[in-house]
Amino acid sequence: MKKVYLETFGCQMNVSDSERVATSLAAKGFEVTPNENSADIVLINTCSVREKAEHKLYTRVGQFRNYREVKPVIGVMGCVAQLEGETLFDKISGIDFVIGTKAVGRVADAIQKVYDGESGVTDLGERELDYDWSVADAQRHSPYVAFVPIIEGCNKFCTYCIVPFSRGREVSLSASEIIRNVLELRRQGVKEIHLIGQNVNSYRPKSDSGLETFHGATPFSRLLRAVAATGIERIKFNTSFPRDFHPDIIDAINEHENLCNWVHLPVQSGSDRVLKMMKRGHTIESYFKKIDKLKESSRDIALTTDIIVGFPGETEKDFEDTKKAVEYCGYDSAYIFKYSPRPGTPAFEMDDEVTLGEKKLRFIELEGVQKRSQNQRLQRYLGKRVQVLA
Ligand code: SF4
Repeated sequence: MKKVYLETFGCQMNVSDSERVATSLAAKGFEVTPNENSADIVLINTCSVREKAEHKLYTRVGQFRNYREVKPVIGVMGCVAQLEGETLFDKISGIDFVIGTKAVGRVADAIQKVYDGESGVTDLGERELDYDWSVADAQRHSPYVAFVPIIEGCNKFCTYCIVPFSRGREVSLSASEIIRNVLELRRQGVKEIHLIGQNVNSYRPKSDSGLETFHGATPFSRLLRAVAATGIERIKFNTSFPRDFHPDIIDAINEHENLCNWVHLPVQSGSDRVLKMMKRGHTIESYFKKIDKLKESSRDIALTTDIIVGFPGETEKDFEDTKKAVEYCGYDSAYIFKYSPRPGTPAFEMDDEVTLGEKKLRFIELEGVQKRSQNQRLQRYLGKRVQVLA
């Protein structure tokens, strides 16, 4: 029996893909091993959102290729695989096959081709029509927590982001299938599910099946109520797109105790000028209004965000606006990134006058602002008893 070792970088969607790949490989007679040294086949699920994540792939392939007596079969899947395709064989030696983001159901076929002696095996094709999105039977990263994809891809085309190119356009999964999955996960003893997707609140399934009896201003808020009605203990969702964030989502959280009181709403910048250059589709004023609504919630909703510092053309004034936005919103936590140019995106072509030194300084400064604000905000938990999943 051939042993496969899977290594995953990037977002929850990648983790979820890896879980399904592991399950399908196990069903096809492979042994999925956590031990990279004993694996016959190494499969690296890649992320291209930041340059650093992409470089990890080069490092890891080099290690698998050089540090083992017998080189394993090496496959690359995920976003870098989708974007680079066959060119990866020229860029990194030692790779045996490349599988795009929609071809993950055919990993076993690619492995077979390599063992049959085919070289440069590449599959960037579309998903099979009967692709199994079920996570209930998947080899999950935890017996208590499960990622449930509800939407894949992105239509937003923020100018700095490669995801619409690597993951394709938005496709919403059927609500009845999602609910069936959640019910099965609950039966198996899963305590917490994460409804995942690049933009969960852009959820728009082709049919209403499964949502007919649930009210809500958008398909996503109806889905939240439908999933809450399954009675599973904890439900989280991630990531939300500010423009599509309807206040009815807050109402759903207020109505259902099992919808966790946490919203991740990436602001990216506090400057309207930068937001426009990023093509985020929201102004800082419209974003603040959503934050105000979230703060009015009776559930004390925890707020988190993503911020990019040093976007091409970001001035000191723009950066000051971002610091003010962080202070205004009072996030419980923020993921701050230095802008990382991604080839193939519109922002890559923009004049980037912000030096790396400035980006680093802005990163440190903003981190300081966030830490101070966070410390203040977290005081509200002192002396409080809350439920957590450990
Ligand atoms: S919404 Fe923007 S940042 Fe998020 S995945 Fe889509 S293009 Fe990328």
